[in-house]
Amino acid sequence: MFRADYHLHSSFSIDSETPMEDIIKSAVKKGMNEIAFTDHADFDERYYPVPEYESYVPVFTELKEKYKDKINIILGVETGLENRWSDRINEFTLKYDFDFIIGSSHAVQTLDLYFDQKEYFSGKTKKEAYTIYFEEMLKNISKCKYFNVYGHMDFVSRYGMYEDNSLNYKEYKELIDECLKTLIENGQGIEVNTSGFRYGINDTYPSLDIIKRYRELGGEIITAGSDSHTAKDAADHIDYAYELIKEAGFEYITVFRKKIPEFIRI
Ligand SMILES: [Zn+2]
Ligand SMILES: [Zn+2]
Repeated sequence: MFRADYHLHSSFSIDSETPMEDIIKSAVKKGMNEIAFTDHADFDERYYPVPEYESYVPVFTELKEKYKDKINIILGVETGLENRWSDRINEFTLKYDFDFIIGSSHAVQTLDLYFDQKEYFSGKTKKEAYTIYFEEMLKNISKCKYFNVYGHMDFVSRYGMYEDNSLNYKEYKELIDECLKTLIENGQGIEVNTSGFRYGINDTYPSLDIIKRYRELGGEIITAGSDSHTAKDAADHIDYAYELIKEAGFEYITVFRKKIPEFIRI
């Protein structure tokens, strides 16, 4: 069966030290047919350097060519979406010849959920913190136009500082449905991110109920990604993600060529 890991970080991401080639070798060993490198492009210069794609693309292209008989490698990116940077993000995503773009919420109310975890969550109930996150997601979807799938849609629950950080879809149904409907209208999808298995939540981001709801509303574009930052985690739980995707009613996985979706039966 065809399998692809569509969310991988290499040493071109600020939070990974793994050379691209090590990740490719690991993915080949694990029998992947295709992978997408989706190194970070976040735009808040307090935390992140401006992405240097001038040096990235040549390295990528050489490796793509070197391994072309073993695995198909596509040029992706994970952009941190914040509507205040929408002009810069739109310009960046159009500037390079990406095959595939993940748009993710890493920051809310200008606060990075990882670096500013305390500042964002303290003084807010879980309901408030999670509601604001989805309200901003909706704005991001309307202003940051050029991404293919929304990354780890319920990511806010990774950093919550509550006794129980889990996110119950029903409690945010209206907002989440609005996000999903807007994505569908725009021809955009969601990803099933398996990094939760490494963060001790034993579940995917988002969980099955949100994946099912996207399908139920007519969504067709779906990818699976490990969000790996090391060679050993590449392709982690991709088989599991594919099972969930089928359980949610999909018969196809989406791959991208120059940002155009293609569908492969799974
Ligand atoms: Zn991310
Ligand atoms: Zn990532």
